[in-house]
Amino acid sequence: MYKLCSGRWEATPIRVTAGFVRKVWQEKQRLREKIGSMLDERERREAELDGHARREPRPCGMTIHTGIGCKYGCVYCYVPDMGFPMKPKPYPLNGLQLVYALLSNPYFVPGPYGTLLAFGSVTEPFMEETRDRAIEYLEYTARFLGNPTQLSTKAYVDEGLADTLRKVADPRMDFLVTIVTLRHWKRLEPNAPPPEKRFETIRNLSSRGFHVTLFLRPIIPGVTDREVPEILERAKAAGARGVVPGSLRVTPGILERLRLAGVDVRVIEARLPRRPRGRRDQVPIRETDLKRLVEVYAKKLGLTVYPSSCSANIDSHGLACNACKWGPCGRPGELPWVEEDAIVELASLVGVEVSEVRVDERSVKVHARGVRRGDARLRVLRNWVEALTKRMLVTF
Ligand code: SF4
Repeated sequence: MYKLCSGRWEATPIRVTAGFVRKVWQEKQRLREKIGSMLDERERREAELDGHARREPRPCGMTIHTGIGCKYGCVYCYVPDMGFPMKPKPYPLNGLQLVYALLSNPYFVPGPYGTLLAFGSVTEPFMEETRDRAIEYLEYTARFLGNPTQLSTKAYVDEGLADTLRKVADPRMDFLVTIVTLRHWKRLEPNAPPPEKRFETIRNLSSRGFHVTLFLRPIIPGVTDREVPEILERAKAAGARGVVPGSLRVTPGILERLRLAGVDVRVIEARLPRRPRGRRDQVPIRETDLKRLVEVYAKKLGLTVYPSSCSANIDSHGLACNACKWGPCGRPGELPWVEEDAIVELASLVGVEVSEVRVDERSVKVHARGVRRGDARLRVLRNWVEALTKRMLVTF
């Protein structure tokens, strides 16, 4: 099923058997030792203590931080409320250390059927200050791990950068290019490249064979919602294959920054299900009607509408997933075939005893013995089962 060939994972259509999960588990340990031997002790220690070695993947996948801070200053962004600075700098780990950190993370599953990678969740990867680091991380994760990769950006990716990415990055990776407004970008995204440049980004990446998705998030009611049809049309013309529409999430800081940018926040407040409770509390506004509008226009244009960013990552890699309420995503016919013994084997590798396993198209149900809710071993098992089977783990 898996083999390590010239430093790359290669895969054939997946059957999740006991032998397969054992092989992935052992390959992860073997690769970790190999990469570890290429680092000195200080580098290994730094990687082991890093967040990439410890944090649990988010629903969009394992977030990869290519830098710290962002200078684009988009007024609807939650990153400043998380305490990140406006002055960006590259992430401190080198490419090998990043791979070692991921392989040290108990929740992380390597390989093309493993954990999804999501670059760019708390910073822009392609700012001048962080671009080299982003390229290095894309190259090393593609070369040693081969996990399905997605990167979100608002940067201008010129032809030279697109060519470099073509040479080093996962060739099936999905680029999420954010364009939310054509007319209000100067006050909403003061330091980001203009939308015209981002359409060029879509063109430059798609013309090199990359899967490009328009990231239409956030839709700001009363401001950017009126521009949706034109943005979709132009993204499609530039080569985007699909769109991820997304809601505005507000904190007290975001509301204040929007107000200072001249936005009538009463329209936004009217859609809030509740007020944010603290500085970091992000509350998504009600936008089902606006997402529906996007869906109608996008479908007319022949764009695929993805319910979330991971869905675009799954689709661009020819996979299928049914691990949450939004599924099935991708190609349902490609959902892995799962042997019950594989789940028993995985549980035993993680240190959990299971007495009953039931697998269907939607979920993997296990009766786990001697573990409480929230037990770290159960969380590891959940991440491995959900990554490899692309189904939800339910314990009973
Ligand atoms: S079913 Fe779709 S939305 Fe849900 S985790 Fe899988 S890819 Fe993501």
